[in-house]
Amino acid sequence: MSGCVRCGANIVYTRRYSGESLCSSCFRNSLVEKTRKTISKYHMIDYGERVGVAVSGGKDSLSLLKILQGLNQFKKNELVAISIDEGVEGYRDEAIAHAKKLTEELHVQHIIVSYKELFGFSLDQALDWKDERDISSCGFCGVFRRRAIDEAAIKADVGVVATAHNLDDYVQTFLMNLLHGDVERIGWLDPTYSDDSFPIRRVKPFMEIYEEELALFAFLSGIPFQSVSCPYMHEGLRSEVRDYLNEMETNHPGMKNVLLRSSLQVVSKLSSEAGRQSIPCTVCGNPSSSGVCSVCRMKDLVNAHVKYPK
Ligand SMILES: [Zn+2]
Ligand SMILES: [Zn+2]
Repeated sequence: MSGCVRCGANIVYTRRYSGESLCSSCFRNSLVEKTRKTISKYHMIDYGERVGVAVSGGKDSLSLLKILQGLNQFKKNELVAISIDEGVEGYRDEAIAHAKKLTEELHVQHIIVSYKELFGFSLDQALDWKDERDISSCGFCGVFRRRAIDEAAIKADVGVVATAHNLDDYVQTFLMNLLHGDVERIGWLDPTYSDDSFPIRRVKPFMEIYEEELALFAFLSGIPFQSVSCPYMHEGLRSEVRDYLNEMETNHPGMKNVLLRSSLQVVSKLSSEAGRQSIPCTVCGNPSSSGVCSVCRMKDLVNAHVKYPK
């Protein structure tokens, strides 16, 4: 068996879609390089800008913080790690502990905000009335998490927030929007999308990297794997879409890459119309499409259904 195509050392991974076989260090370098290229291609981060990094404490976000810190060796940008504590018993504590440990190691400032302090309830409390709602737990949590990251980003005084969404997440979201009939939301997937009514940009430096490769990166870099997964994860459409795409990729290597390229073309055609007509929410003042934003609408739903323990 021949060695790594770049340096001849022992192979740890072969990209099925390209046939490229790499050793541990060349494989890891290839992901760092790819991240750098994605950031530059879409002008994700400006020179000198303060950058928020959303760190859930899962392997992808820990890898993101590590790679961004590595790319920032000349300290042109200041990084601030942002963690959201949704309040999921027995799940989030471990992740936040991983995030804390890495931020201390890398000497990065770390801001943690909780659903409880922002919205008045934890995710566990908010999801208590599961049987009566027609929205999945992830859909529900996603709306609040988006807002929580915005609030934390304001607190951290950053110009941009980087999230660890990878290629798999990106194409899953694209397909899910199609399956839900949310064509307008597809425009929000524009890598350079910004909403004029909210000044902090969101970017996804891992959007061109397969989830499988990030998992291997984390493993090879000694980044801790969280032992428990979110208890709400297996609800809803996303896990079906994930399985479907993985099967397609197994049978047709490279298909996720093709889907990413197709998605980006559709996204660029739709983004010019997306969300430009937002108006301030009459309750909280954040951007909304209908006068009351989705966070305020969902908060009302939760408060109408949940009995809080005093
Ligand atoms: Zn090599
Ligand atoms: Zn609102």
